[in-house]
Amino acid sequence: MSDIAALSRQLLHFSPDALIAVDAHGVIRFANETARAVLGYAPEDLVGRPLEVLLPERFRARHATHLAEFHRDPHSREMGSRVADLYARRADGSEFPAGIRLAPFDWQGERYVAAAIRDATERRSVRDALVAARADAERANWAKSRFLATASHDLRQPMQTIRLLNAAMRRLASGCPDIEDLLHREELAIDAATRLLDGLLDVSRLESGAIKPQLDDVPLASVFADLQREFDSPAVAKALRLEFSQPDATLSTDRLLFTQLLQNLIGNALKYTERGVVRVAARIDPEYLEIGVEDTGIGIPADKLERIFDEYYQVDRAGAPRLGVGLGLAIVREVARLLGYQVSVRSTLGEGTRVVVRIPRQVLRSTGADAASAAADVSVAGSAARGRLLLVEDNASVRTATELFLTVAGYRVLSAASPGDALALAPQLRAGDLLLADYRLGAELTGIDLLHRLRETLGWEMPAILLSGDLDSLLRVVKTPIRSCRFLGKPVDTGALTAAIAALGESPVAANGTGG
Ligand code: ADP
Repeated sequence: MSDIAALSRQLLHFSPDALIAVDAHGVIRFANETARAVLGYAPEDLVGRPLEVLLPERFRARHATHLAEFHRDPHSREMGSRVADLYARRADGSEFPAGIRLAPFDWQGERYVAAAIRDATERRSVRDALVAARADAERANWAKSRFLATASHDLRQPMQTIRLLNAAMRRLASGCPDIEDLLHREELAIDAATRLLDGLLDVSRLESGAIKPQLDDVPLASVFADLQREFDSPAVAKALRLEFSQPDATLSTDRLLFTQLLQNLIGNALKYTERGVVRVAARIDPEYLEIGVEDTGIGIPADKLERIFDEYYQVDRAGAPRLGVGLGLAIVREVARLLGYQVSVRSTLGEGTRVVVRIPRQVLRSTGADAASAAADVSVAGSAARGRLLLVEDNASVRTATELFLTVAGYRVLSAASPGDALALAPQLRAGDLLLADYRLGAELTGIDLLHRLRETLGWEMPAILLSGDLDSLLRVVKTPIRSCRFLGKPVDTGALTAAIAALGESPVAANGTGG
């Protein structure tokens, strides 16, 4: 025998895997030496036996089918690639997780299958450990999201109290510049904390799967009009041009989430641009509705582009103050994932940034002249009237702070700790009074229930402002508009609160001397 032939023979017998050859009838015709270590059989004991002896009984029935399939389409492949756990049986009856590769070959006019068999115990246990670690990580991430959602939601209540007290003190301090300055600084800190809480709540609710998109037909023009109204003054304040352009189109989307995604992108564009223009433009191509938010701002370094969508990631700008909390784009990422949109960014340092949101065309409901009106606005201004505010709030510290703020701001306030107390005050109410209530009022009634009861008892349409710590969810629940009723999120912005009161027809007593 030549040296090479002898070497090949040794190699065959002592290959790292057990090797066997099986004929077309499933009978083992060859086994190498390694089979002894892996399978516990002397090679000569395997020859002539059916392949089934190497399989645990529960796999034997299926095995005939697999073998027939293999012969129909013979090519080299991993056995059981569709079976998660493949086992082989040793001579002593014990089993082990096996990795088996098959390859067909012809010899002396007959078709054979070569099988390389190895003990995959170690690999399988690494895989199992990885699967378990991944499941643990997902559980931990979910728990973190739930915890953050709950914590940030519950922190809103004390934050509301602090904000109202600050607003009340600012009114009382008018004329004392030193105190006004301190209170203004405190207000900025409250704003920052509120933004952080809002961001945390949003991102954790999105991540924990607590938010399910509610699809409606939404005209693009109405969303852009809302965004223009919202961002016009911040743009003017920085002397930036803010331009919107869009084709007439209606898309099936979750209006709140879609708007939030664009708010975050436009907010960033304005935040990181000192001169020039922020352009929001939509166009329809054969596959996508594409919305671009483009600015002429400071840009993002190329090596940071990948990370800006991570939670809490902010680009380090030497010496420059941080302008946010690093959650805006994480929210964009989660909302896009939820709605099935793609988001991409291109940026040139010092020249500007362009973020593109690609929305699959299938969601377009109509294009061209848009008959659909904007989604129902649940806030409908009521008739002008002047009166008192009936404050209903079950949390004593928030109630006291709100009462204090409203009184200092010049309103007359009747306050109640529960819907029952509020209904008991009904005989004292008269046309022109306004209800200011929390939406959640303990187990008794919601703010909306209370409003309906009061209106029924009074026989006139009492205007109302309802406050909620989870405004988005509330607006999803309230499908039908309620006349003369506005909804505000908590912690309430005191400016927004007085604006809503004014829109519903109230004015402070101090300002006009009436209001009884
Ligand atoms: P932040 O609250 O810091 O704005 P974001 O998650 O919204 O957090 O953005 C992450 C980072 O990406 C920001 O800190 C900012 O450095 C960068 N960035 C986002 N949008 C822009 C933009 N339009 N121009 C320049 N930088 C941007």
